[in-house]
Amino acid sequence: MKIPFMDLSGSYPQIYDEVMLKIKKHIDNTRFIGGEDIKKFEKNFSEYCNAENTISCGNGTDALIISLKALGIGPGDTVITVPNTFIATGEAVTAVGAQVDFVDIEEKTYTMDPQKLKEYLHKNSNKKNIKAIIPVHIYGQMCDMERLMKIAEEYNLSVVEDSSQAHGAKFKGKGPGEYGDIATFSFYPGKNLGAFGDGGAIVCNDKELAEKIRKYANHGRVDKYTHQFEGYNSRLDSIQASVLDIKLKHLDGWNELRSKKAKYFSEKLKGVNCIIPYTDKDIYRHVYHLYVIQSDNRDELREFLKEKGISTGIHYPLPLHLQEAYKYLGYKEGDFPTTERIAKRIISLPFWPEIRYEEIDEVVNSIKLFLNNK
Ligand SMILES: *Cc1c(COP(=O)(O)O)cnc(C)c1O
Repeated sequence: MKIPFMDLSGSYPQIYDEVMLKIKKHIDNTRFIGGEDIKKFEKNFSEYCNAENTISCGNGTDALIISLKALGIGPGDTVITVPNTFIATGEAVTAVGAQVDFVDIEEKTYTMDPQKLKEYLHKNSNKKNIKAIIPVHIYGQMCDMERLMKIAEEYNLSVVEDSSQAHGAKFKGKGPGEYGDIATFSFYPGKNLGAFGDGGAIVCNDKELAEKIRKYANHGRVDKYTHQFEGYNSRLDSIQASVLDIKLKHLDGWNELRSKKAKYFSEKLKGVNCIIPYTDKDIYRHVYHLYVIQSDNRDELREFLKEKGISTGIHYPLPLHLQEAYKYLGYKEGDFPTTERIAKRIISLPFWPEIRYEEIDEVVNSIKLFLNNK
């Protein structure tokens, strides 16, 4: 049985006709940038996130860059994130001229370790330029935002939640943007809410900050040819906004399916020599952007599954601090042991809302076959 890593077409039957009609309408009206559909999506996404403001933009990387800019972060400043993330999180910090630094993750949740953050801030208490943290809600589960916010308040740090993998996730009943100053989202096609192209958004409850963000994303514009400052051009186009607005109505249903399939996976993997995703339904609403397990002999397991026609991924195989791109920071192997250890053990199994139970059975049986012959 051939099983892909992800199948984006699984959701097509539910949305296809509605999307086609909308795309046709945009083409017939020659409306591709701006307009009512952008406003409509922003309003509905704000409602979904329980947020005062949504500013749509070109992609999730831009969302981070614009957020840091609007917070006034720039040269001479330091921003802390985790090494177990996609490079965009680090790139955004460098893009505004600030320096990125890392703290390690918790073994169980794969998210920023509040204790490690505390130790870092204590050790660097003479540094006046640490301005913000970017906790990453990785694989669909939020960070411990209660503990992180407490530390951020104590040290007067801004908080930008990288929520690119956590549309609809909750921690103690609240979602991205309900804790930090800002939450950023990517609508890359494979994300839980994905466009038919690129897209991103920033949610923010502070009115003044939201206005600044909107200006930064739009050439520092006050009106068409009046610019308060130099900004960027980062916008969601009308077709993508319409696709996202149609898909948004299904997001909770799809997240529910993800949760069901993940539960099935975890039940089937009981007793198998691997570590299944941790969650606690009293604290988290995990939206399983990815279904990630840990295994010994990960690389051999991947190869074995590949031979059986099963595609898998690794998120992420090389931690940021060990990437050539961050060589200039001077980190070495051993600096972030938890991230480094899991990077050698994690494997993302085939996963999407409509994956069939027989497909999950096939994946699990193949994993068992491999591990039993070890
Ligand atoms: C996808 C992703 C991004 C970047 O989003 P793009 O839309 O591809 O720019 C940033 N951070 C994380 C954690 C992501 O998963």
